[in-house]
Amino acid sequence: MQMDQTKCCPVCGTNGIFWRDTKDWEYKTSDDSYTYLQCPSCLTIYINEIPKDLSLIYPSNYYSFTKKSNSLLFRLKNWLDFQFYKPILKSLDAQTLSVLDVGGGTGEVADMLKKYDKRIAYSEIVDIDQEAQKIALDKGHVYNISTIEEFSTEKKFNLILLLNIIEHVADPEKLITKVGQMLSPDGFIIIKTPNADSLDARLFRNHYWGGLHCPRHWVIFSNTSFKKMMSRTNLVIKRIAFTQGAPFWTFSLIQFFGKKKIDPKSKSMVEQPLFTLIAIPFAIFDLIRSFFFKTSQMFIVISK
Ligand SMILES: [Zn+2]
Repeated sequence: MQMDQTKCCPVCGTNGIFWRDTKDWEYKTSDDSYTYLQCPSCLTIYINEIPKDLSLIYPSNYYSFTKKSNSLLFRLKNWLDFQFYKPILKSLDAQTLSVLDVGGGTGEVADMLKKYDKRIAYSEIVDIDQEAQKIALDKGHVYNISTIEEFSTEKKFNLILLLNIIEHVADPEKLITKVGQMLSPDGFIIIKTPNADSLDARLFRNHYWGGLHCPRHWVIFSNTSFKKMMSRTNLVIKRIAFTQGAPFWTFSLIQFFGKKKIDPKSKSMVEQPLFTLIAIPFAIFDLIRSFFFKTSQMFIVISK
């Protein structure tokens, strides 16, 4: 445990306390150890030292850069996610809609939304992978190879997706403020992000919690800390819901039981058969729990 210099909580500025030292177990991009801290006040979990070179921590087989199979798990996930998007799309009464997906990879979510809502005439993706770009362009999405920090546009979007992206950036507040300026007056930003204050985070703290996605997750909010950050912006939280965090349970369990047997360099963890086998029962477990408890993924709707 190296704690020579510790960073304050990126949300509220309180001194963080040591949470866990860990490594990249999912992709094994390096053997480096990373320290995660937790804010005792707002419960945000955050990485102490942010990796400098993104190309080293996002390998070419990174899950959002690869073409998805049409597996039962994938279709089930899409259907479940769409139940969340449905009322949001319904409340937009424009004739045509535009969608911006930040970190949208190959455009799988934009595909799904377009399939269900034919009013979506324009879809744009901001992401950093060239292979994903080819796939996304083939499907008719506009694609920008860029980080969101470097991206700029004059366009206004009805729907902006930040799905599992704000935990990957150094300054989530700046990101949300920036995309808020790209939102049409009646539009919505949809955020999906891990919940630091969840059962699986507590259970696997001393081993490896999948929600760390180490070293790619840098700021992991709690329900409280997310609200705290948003109160400083001029945007409004319309709804916070909790959804299944099956991938986190699965990564946590695979690391706990089988870290030596699995080679994530040939195939990413999500493509390994074992992943589906573990993920399905935990998706059901979490979906039932999500009616009563704060599970490990938050779905948040934001407007102007
Ligand atoms: Zn804090």
